[in-house]
Amino acid sequence: MRFRPPSVRARLTLWHAAVLTLIVCIFSAGILLFLHARLYAALDAQLEREIATIGKVYREEPEELKNLASEWGITLFRVDDAGGVRQQTEAWEREGLSRALQIGDSASPLSWTASDGRRYRVHSISEPSYRVAAAIEETSLRDTLWTLAVILAMGIPFAAGLAVAGGYFLAGRVLSPVGAMAQKAREITAESLAKRLPVDNARDEFGQLATVFNDTLSRLQDAFERLRRFTADASHELRTPLTAMRSVGEVALQNRFDAVTYRDVIGSMLEEVDRLTRLVESLLILTRADSGKVQLAPEDLDVGGLAGHVVDQLRVLADEKQQALALRAPIPVYARADAALIRHALMNLIHNAIKYTPNGGTITVEVNATGGQAKIEVRDTGPGIPAAHRDRIFDRFYRVDTGRSREEGGVGLGLAIARWAVEANGGHIELASDGKAGSLFRVILPPTGKSFALGKG
Ligand code: ADP
Repeated sequence: MRFRPPSVRARLTLWHAAVLTLIVCIFSAGILLFLHARLYAALDAQLEREIATIGKVYREEPEELKNLASEWGITLFRVDDAGGVRQQTEAWEREGLSRALQIGDSASPLSWTASDGRRYRVHSISEPSYRVAAAIEETSLRDTLWTLAVILAMGIPFAAGLAVAGGYFLAGRVLSPVGAMAQKAREITAESLAKRLPVDNARDEFGQLATVFNDTLSRLQDAFERLRRFTADASHELRTPLTAMRSVGEVALQNRFDAVTYRDVIGSMLEEVDRLTRLVESLLILTRADSGKVQLAPEDLDVGGLAGHVVDQLRVLADEKQQALALRAPIPVYARADAALIRHALMNLIHNAIKYTPNGGTITVEVNATGGQAKIEVRDTGPGIPAAHRDRIFDRFYRVDTGRSREEGGVGLGLAIARWAVEANGGHIELASDGKAGSLFRVILPPTGKSFALGKG
């Protein structure tokens, strides 16, 4: 099983310490190698110089060779010529440095260890008539390098310890906003959705996270608020017809009425049942819409034909109010949409127009094309909707004139359903009138994507 430190802080600390220790190791090794190369280069250069001096003295004043140690401080050398060993220092002989020369007459200096453990850097240069060999003790140089290596090696655990402590401290500081956020988030419940996470710096990563979380909270709060309002409104709407039925029933029970009056009582109770049924159906549609489970069946829809069907279905209601209900569809228009949903939306719009337009008014449904899209307009000569209500008219249970709407049997959900039906199909619905002369609702539907988008033939 892979070891995994439990907290982000521990993980950050370990990574920090590991990377830092690795850097210190590489750095230390680099220093050692560099220093080793530089010191040996300097030693070799000195050796070269000494050999050159010895060679010069041998060639020019060979008698002076024995004074080299005292005059020049060159204590380890040997000169050979045709007659054998011409001169060698006492120290050279004592340390047996000639053995180093037997290892090989290498072109470059080499390190050699004497029997007493001392280390020497040895080099020789052969000329046609003589050979000069010299050595310098390198023990102190090696000691220096060794001491440095020990210091660096001892420093590494110390640096690692510091890295762990520093990393732990830094990670703690960096992660402290997360702790604060978690603490605050724990306090947020469905009842306290108004609370928000603290944002220290909105531009850093944690600030961005907290901002996104806060945005989500705002949306949740809105959704909760809408749900709460919807439930309250729905309960209120359900209670009204139930209360009406109860009081009508109680009055009928308490009194003795003739058969005609009882029929009226039953009639008015059935009206309330109708209203309840419509309300429950609308609520069901909206609940399904909210759950996002409605399966759309988009098709290439003959918009004019569909509007014609709805107009024909509702004509009887318009006739009852002596209203003129006309359909204008100058060109065939097609849209890509779910027929049942669009029918529902048109039904609600035209039904509203009939409901709220006084007797003798005019309702016109016009189907046309605009910018490659299908356009349906439902216009009436009714009281219109004041501009102040324009933004909220599609809200659930929103009514301009509650009393009037109830009287007409409305439940305040027709436009909300119409909007959902249109938008679910990728369309757009708006109240286009300014409330001065009747109402004008406009629906725009997406094109079919085929060549007959605007009109077939
Ligand atoms: P309702 O079931 O009450 O008709 P809707 O959602 O269909 O609910 O409409 C919301 C409100 O908008 C209505 O209560 C009414 O006040 C107003 N309204 C809708 N259509 C029209 C219209 N054509 N003319 C005037 N007012 C309208």
